[in-house]
Amino acid sequence: MGQLDVLWEYQILDLEMDKCEEMRKKIPLRNRLLGLKKHLIDQQDQLVKCNDEAEKKSNALNRINHEYENIANAFKSDFQKIDSNQVKSLKQLDEMHKSALELKDKLARKEEELNDLLKDVQSLSDKLNEIRVQIIRAKKEYSSIKAQYDQEVKKIRKEYMALKAKRDELKDKIDVSLLERYNNLKNSRNTAVVTIENNCCGGCNMALAALVLEKLKQENSIIECENCGRILYVGAKTG
Ligand SMILES: [Zn+2]
Repeated sequence: MGQLDVLWEYQILDLEMDKCEEMRKKIPLRNRLLGLKKHLIDQQDQLVKCNDEAEKKSNALNRINHEYENIANAFKSDFQKIDSNQVKSLKQLDEMHKSALELKDKLARKEEELNDLLKDVQSLSDKLNEIRVQIIRAKKEYSSIKAQYDQEVKKIRKEYMALKAKRDELKDKIDVSLLERYNNLKNSRNTAVVTIENNCCGGCNMALAALVLEKLKQENSIIECENCGRILYVGAKTG
């Protein structure tokens, strides 16, 4: 086996390793995982927003309770005036009656406000629970899919490592300088060694000069395509 034959085998394994890498990046579960992750982040954002709103409602509830208490105290103090015979005139009693009616109105309004607010708090609490349930469900789904995904990655990784071991076994049989040339070409052009197809370079499809074709017939010659720089290989069966 000549240097180029080994290098050709080396490249076959190398390209299969590339395919593994591509497969790993294209695992369909990967997109689902990313989607679920985004969904989870959205839900957490909503949870924070709902909590903020709940806090605002709770502050409003405290305020209304306080106002309700003030009105109730005003009632109580008027009642005490009557109870302790502090009301001396009919006019005073009449005024107190009027103020009592006003307070009653105010109380009714506050009660209405309280009821509305309690309804809001209830629906907010329902929404919070719903989000929490959704988050638990999404987390569960995420970890189940993540486990499947990890399994697939592991499988591909195993295949990749097996290919790499086989490829690296060939490394010692290739000249250091040739391997360096190979690596540079592989990095810049994806393939470094190409076969000849109908007297054309199998990499860039450029017709090869007669002199180049003649040189290729000599054994152990390493000839590059004048156009793309790839190493030309005649040893492998084509088609
Ligand atoms: Zn070429």
